[in-house]
Amino acid sequence: HATTAKQAKIAEDGPKNAFTGTNLSPRYFSILKKRRELPVYEQRQEFLDLYHKSNVLVFVGETGSGKTTQIPQFVCYDDLPQKKGKMVACTQPRRVAAMSVATRVAQEMDVVLGDEVGYSIRFEDMTSDKTFLKYMTDGMLLREAMNDPDLTKYSTIILDEAHERTLATDVLMALLKDVVLRRADLKLVIMSATLDSKKFQSYFHGAPLLAVPGRTHPVEIFYTPAPEDDYLSAALRTTLSIHDSQPEGDILVFLTGEDEIERAAAKIRAEVQEADMGPLDVYPLYGGLTPQQQQKIFNPPPKADVNGRPGRKCIISTNIAETSLTIDGIVYVVDTGFSKQKVFNPRVRYESLLVTPISQASAQQRAGRAGRTQPGKCFRLYTETSFKDDLIPQTYPEILLSNIAATVLELKKLGVEDLVHFDLMDPPAPETLMRALEELYYLKCLNIDGDLTEMGKLASEYPLDPAMAVMLISSSEFYCSNEILSICSLLSVPNIFVRPNHAKQKADEMKAFFAHDLGDHLTLLNVYHAFKSDEAQEDPKQWCHEHFLNYRALTQADNIRMQLKRIMERQEIELVSTPHTSPKYYDNIRQALVAGFFMQVAMKQSNNRPYLTVREEQKVVIHPGSTLKHEAEWVLYNEFTLTSANYIRTTTAVKPEWLIELAPEYYDIEDENFPDGDIKKALRRARNGVHRSEKGRK
Ligand code: ADP
Ligand code: MG
Repeated sequence: HATTAKQAKIAEDGPKNAFTGTNLSPRYFSILKKRRELPVYEQRQEFLDLYHKSNVLVFVGETGSGKTTQIPQFVCYDDLPQKKGKMVACTQPRRVAAMSVATRVAQEMDVVLGDEVGYSIRFEDMTSDKTFLKYMTDGMLLREAMNDPDLTKYSTIILDEAHERTLATDVLMALLKDVVLRRADLKLVIMSATLDSKKFQSYFHGAPLLAVPGRTHPVEIFYTPAPEDDYLSAALRTTLSIHDSQPEGDILVFLTGEDEIERAAAKIRAEVQEADMGPLDVYPLYGGLTPQQQQKIFNPPPKADVNGRPGRKCIISTNIAETSLTIDGIVYVVDTGFSKQKVFNPRVRYESLLVTPISQASAQQRAGRAGRTQPGKCFRLYTETSFKDDLIPQTYPEILLSNIAATVLELKKLGVEDLVHFDLMDPPAPETLMRALEELYYLKCLNIDGDLTEMGKLASEYPLDPAMAVMLISSSEFYCSNEILSICSLLSVPNIFVRPNHAKQKADEMKAFFAHDLGDHLTLLNVYHAFKSDEAQEDPKQWCHEHFLNYRALTQADNIRMQLKRIMERQEIELVSTPHTSPKYYDNIRQALVAGFFMQVAMKQSNNRPYLTVREEQKVVIHPGSTLKHEAEWVLYNEFTLTSANYIRTTTAVKPEWLIELAPEYYDIEDENFPDGDIKKALRRARNGVHRSEKGRK
């Protein structure tokens, strides 16, 4: 069957819901009217023609033209996936976007979110057996491919925001390129916001391209005359001055991360009140928000006040708002010129999120946000020379900036043997690939020939980094799988400690109450146990509030724990604990940590010099927020953050004997690649000192 735009229109006009048969609500019709004003609507027939003609097609259009919300619906009205027991998938690089867009589209289709329209993100599945339109992160679809390489559940797969070039989208493109050859009944739609469409087209062997002409208004660009030292205060100043002096219109400010955004929001609110300016609603927007908090950005702006000063909303966002989410009514954009981006240095094997200058393409996208509904203004907090000379033209694809160990493991599980010839749009640097293979070898996920081992198979089933998965799988051997399971879950959620500006000392006192001298992993465990106590569970929200803990993060950790536990049970990994009274309780846990994270260890140098990471020999400093009390000589860490200092975060003291025993190959000081120096000496001392006591860990 091939349907037409006209038929779809009739079906959409109701009065009954074409998919559920129930009467359509008034809200449905009011949204429908707006949907039909979107640029993509005019090209529905053109889209359907290409969709019928070709298995793969590329669809490009300005942000806000209706791609993400409308195209999947165009597909559903034609493809009728529910009639064949299939689904339509639409991937998003960001969790927030997947949730937010699914919520919106459920409203547009007049169904309950999670029924016909749902979303799936890591650790949260908002779908049911009724679902036929599923928004999901690209990472989730990649995971599904591991168990179902032909993705047989889907009749159409839409890879959205392909221009973002995330690692998962790049890998999916390479995989799906093959799947469409094997499955004649599968349709693939690549959607992208920017002008790189030629690159996608040629990658997919000249697939047809449909471009929606943008309906944008001119945006006037202002640069700062001289470079700004402090982009944050410049952003605050600019925002307040827009609000105080410019005609009606909402403001969108681009900052880089949660902390910064919350601080800026608080300052702007305070200033507006203090200086008695017109009404301004300030909304932060970043990945860690709840769906309810996110939805607030779509609230209408406040009304003008009695003095006739315009009311507006001001959204302070990470680059989520650059292309993933479209907010109507934005007239002013404040572009700091920065975003948090992944950086990876394979030589020192460290990956981190770093505040980095954006690309010219990003700057253009940001400016474009101001001209959606009327002519707008974009204030760039950098000079025009800097834009031209310092910013790179395009953002680098994530695959060139990431540790790809997890991806390599997934590909191995998928049966991709020859990674060097795997047809990626931009292949990673050979050194990056080598590092990933080496890491997986040390973790015993791959053998010396690069083949997947039993451990590798087990580890690939967890939605976790390989080191974390290996730690979890090994934990029963150390009689602490219950505890390591809790720790893994806590490491998978945002910071559980709350430290508000006005009560830092109080918050620190509370944290000290849970602190474990041997390190942060054990502190996390203390918090979790306290959280699960009867006393706390009487009113967990209140309890968290009193103890300066993030209730949402802890509940989320609890939920993640349940999901990881299910995988462990399926793999028949025993859930055991060392008795809490045993002197071995904490040692066992720390040894299990080593079994996974032995590649993330640093040693203290003599004479108060900083710590040095093993093998890569990077100078690092333990983050001041750590609860690790005494001067531990050897520490294991979870995170490496490059700020003004090279901080290691979430650290726990370990013993060199454990390193040698549990990761003999990584700590093989006879290996000629092991750098000569203090670490080697210390390991030698430890090795000679070990009169290996019998196992007897119990
Ligand atoms: P694109 O993917 O082309 O950038 P979208 O499909 O995301 O465009 O958005 C199209 C329009 O849908 C937006 O301009 C906005 O008006 C509307 N929209 C999207 N999400 C929401 C939402 N959560 N609430 C209200 N309107 C929304
Ligand atoms: Mg979109």
